[in-house]
Amino acid sequence: MGQQRVLIFDTTLRDGEQAPGFSLRPDEKLVLARQLDALGVDIIEAGFPIASSDDAEAVRTISGEIRRPVIACLARCVRADLEKAAWSIAPAARGRIHTFIATSDLHLQVKLRITREQCLDSAVDAVRFARQKTDDVQFSAEDATRSDMDFLCRVVEQVIRAGATTVNLPDTVGFSTPDELKDFFATVIGRVPNSDKAVFSTHCHDDLGLAVANSLAAVQGGVRQVECTVNGIGERAGNAALEELVMAMHVRKDRMPYHVDVVHKELYPSSEMLSRLTGQGVQVNKAIVGRNAFAHEAGIHQDGMLKDRRTYEIMRAEDVGAPWNPLVLGRHSGRHAVQKRCTDLGLTLDVTELGDVYRTLMTMAHDRKILGDQDVVEAVSTVRATRPAVVS
Ligand code: MN
Repeated sequence: MGQQRVLIFDTTLRDGEQAPGFSLRPDEKLVLARQLDALGVDIIEAGFPIASSDDAEAVRTISGEIRRPVIACLARCVRADLEKAAWSIAPAARGRIHTFIATSDLHLQVKLRITREQCLDSAVDAVRFARQKTDDVQFSAEDATRSDMDFLCRVVEQVIRAGATTVNLPDTVGFSTPDELKDFFATVIGRVPNSDKAVFSTHCHDDLGLAVANSLAAVQGGVRQVECTVNGIGERAGNAALEELVMAMHVRKDRMPYHVDVVHKELYPSSEMLSRLTGQGVQVNKAIVGRNAFAHEAGIHQDGMLKDRRTYEIMRAEDVGAPWNPLVLGRHSGRHAVQKRCTDLGLTLDVTELGDVYRTLMTMAHDRKILGDQDVVEAVSTVRATRPAVVS
């Protein structure tokens, strides 16, 4: 039996882009869409066309140019949104309308001020209408994880009957825990009689730092599409980070035997491009793509790394397309790393010199935190100037 395929639905250009400080112009969206194509994502959610004419134009341009992945765009369960969405994906080789409505009582009563029955009718109408425009229709039950289970199952059954081919049940506010989300999907999929007619999808937010763990648990609960973003950007604390999901399923395929069609070497370039376009870098200790993700400063770790990288690394920087410059020199570094850096710089030191250079560098590290190549060269010249080399 072959491995089960998990589809990667990238929403960097929609959920990610709508977060504060991450807006992109249509031309920038197109550049990023090309990179997402190279990365190998299955579906690109390119925007929310009713939100602005710029967004609609961007989705339409991307639909015309990017031919391999499915191009999706978002629409509320209202006619104007759906019409605009249909227009935006019209040029696509494979276009998807993604329509959504909240299903939790809180959202229905406070935000939408409609009854459950009105919600159900809107959802079914929207899916039916969207299916007249494209064969690929995704329905999302916003705030699904805080919705009444009986009602949610009714909605899911009805939208599948109306023609939804993907059903996404978002943890909109990042409230779930992993075991809970796994049970949640297993319950919905088990209870909805026509659940085999649609692909189930998860969309997790990181308000409690659980988006990636929750998404992986959802996959174990039966989900076969994960929604995620490059660098984990998105509303509030963000969405599940694409690079973390992909590498977790790769490195731990013994525990998660799923097939994901993403080009690992494009993970870092994608992250880097997004940071450059938005002017928002990732935290230095960000998994997979942060500056420190493959860096080692502590002496014991550096010594291990010099002997065998597997001592302190479960994957390699070059596998995700990141530059590998692992031995950071700082206050915690040992002599081995200093000697290695000197050798790399073409500086051969005898044992006494190495001791002096090491002590000089450690003094410098008190104010400098991280020592660069220039600091090493400077330390070596200082040492050599004060104690001329013995000519033998
Ligand atoms: Mn979201």
